[in-house]
Amino acid sequence: MTIKPLIILPDPVLRQVSKPIERVDTDLQRLSDDMLETMYDAPGIGLAAIQIGVPRRMLVIDLSKEGEEKQPLVFINPEIVSSSDDRSVYEEGCLSIPDYYAEVERPAKVTVKYLDREGKEESVEADGLLATCLQHEIDHLNGVLFIDHISRLKREMVIKKFTKAAKSKVL
Ligand SMILES: [Zn+2]
Repeated sequence: MTIKPLIILPDPVLRQVSKPIERVDTDLQRLSDDMLETMYDAPGIGLAAIQIGVPRRMLVIDLSKEGEEKQPLVFINPEIVSSSDDRSVYEEGCLSIPDYYAEVERPAKVTVKYLDREGKEESVEADGLLATCLQHEIDHLNGVLFIDHISRLKREMVIKKFTKAAKSKVL
């Protein structure tokens, strides 16, 4: 397993729409292992393939707490098939937007259809943190970031800050 470099805002790669995966094979499983390794190293609780520069529809999540046994989840071609009218608010962060957090309101429950790591069709009725995390990561597959769900003023401030930081690194 390899820890991959993370793509950071404002890299335009993050705005790409990821392509569906046609075949679940050992290369893809290896990629999912690398994604988990990268996520654990960061550390984070969710990661989409595009965040390591691979525009394919796959994401990994692990909501286990520190000290608990790991619970890695792999979602291939995940699709939200229904979402609740009731909403919940979580303070979200993103490995591609380090050290920035903001409250985001989303549907409290979602049903997500996907293929697991073995390519088997599955579906999950998620609520709580898993529901929020799935929506955040599926957004990534569509080139959407959590800052797109906050006020325009706040979003512009964050983008400006990260653009400045990226420029100073190049120089
Ligand atoms: Zn993210």
